[in-house]
Amino acid sequence: MAVRKIIRMGHPTLRAVARPLTEDEIGSDAVQHLTADMIDTLHDYGGIGLAAPQVNEPIRLAIIEIPGGDTRYGEIEALPLTVFANPELEIIDTATGGYWEGCLSVPGLRGYVERPQHIRVTARNLKHELISLELKGFLATVFQHEFDHLDGRLYIDHLKDPTKLVFDEEFERYVAPFEAAPFAEAEY
Ligand code: ZN
Repeated sequence: MAVRKIIRMGHPTLRAVARPLTEDEIGSDAVQHLTADMIDTLHDYGGIGLAAPQVNEPIRLAIIEIPGGDTRYGEIEALPLTVFANPELEIIDTATGGYWEGCLSVPGLRGYVERPQHIRVTARNLKHELISLELKGFLATVFQHEFDHLDGRLYIDHLKDPTKLVFDEEFERYVAPFEAAPFAEAEY
């Protein structure tokens, strides 16, 4: 296992559509090894989600881990570390809600993005088992952000108001004191 380098905005892999994993690849030694590296990388960088393209592997694989309890992420339901191969995302309700998002591939910046807040996700894990989750609120945002990485999209593509893209320090100084910004410190 090893910590990989997370590639940053401007690297072409972040703008490419990743390819699906074949049946044989899911659960293969190579994908198990990559997933172990992605988990190490996620923990080293201190994020809550990581997609394979962010470590320059253009395949449809992502991990998400939301700490529970009284963490800095507050009241959000915990999600233990889960691996998603070839995920599909369905919007259940198009009503949107906004969060200040942060991305491990766009370090140092925060941006306010509105997304649908009720979705369903289906995917395989590395044992070929079907995963199906219904997600609301911030978790719905996290999954859409993470799976966007598999289609070459970044959160900045969803900004409606370009003045709501700010550096971390300015966010702490000029935004956080004046508006509720739950989970704004999360990166994924
Ligand atoms: Zn991201």
